[in-house]
Formats: sequence, C-alpha cells, structure tokens
Amino acid sequence: MEHQCDEIFKKIVLLLDNELNQEEKDWLRDELIACPACLENYEMEKDFKEMLCEKLKCMESCECNEEQLKSKILSKIRNREK
Ligand SMILES: [Zn+2]
Repeated sequence: MEHQCDEIFKKIVLLLDNELNQEEKDWLRDELIACPACLENYEMEKDFKEMLCEKLKCMESCECNEEQLKSKILSKIRNREK
C-alpha cells in the first residue's frame, strides 16, 4: 500500500481512540517509523488529545468544538506540507 500521510493521519486518530486492532497497530507503527512527518502528526495529535481531555475534565461546559479544532490542525499540517 502506498504511503499517504493523510490516510495515515486518519489511522492515527483511530489509534488514539483505541479503535485499531493489533494488526493495524503494528502496521501503523511501521509507517510512523518510516515517515518523520507522520510521526510528528502523531505526536501533535496525541498532545492535542491529551490537552482536550484535560480541558474537558476541568470544564464541564466546554464550548470548544472538537471537529473544528481538528480541521484547523489538519489545515495547518496541509499548509506546512506545501
Ligand atoms: Zn507520512
């Protein structure tokens, strides 16, 4: 399968949501090792998710829209790659 950073990023999101099976996890780990850009995306998404969880913990009525934040981050990643 051809390496596509956008596709990998979708898998990263699933990984962090614990929605990948072991086989997919192993495959994704190899892809991350092979591609510094994807590894960076993984670190960023992981930090983002941790930050979000903390935010939700301390603010019950958080007005942040997770999807909006994600699309912002995604567009940042895409702009950087150009
Ligand atoms: Zn990549």
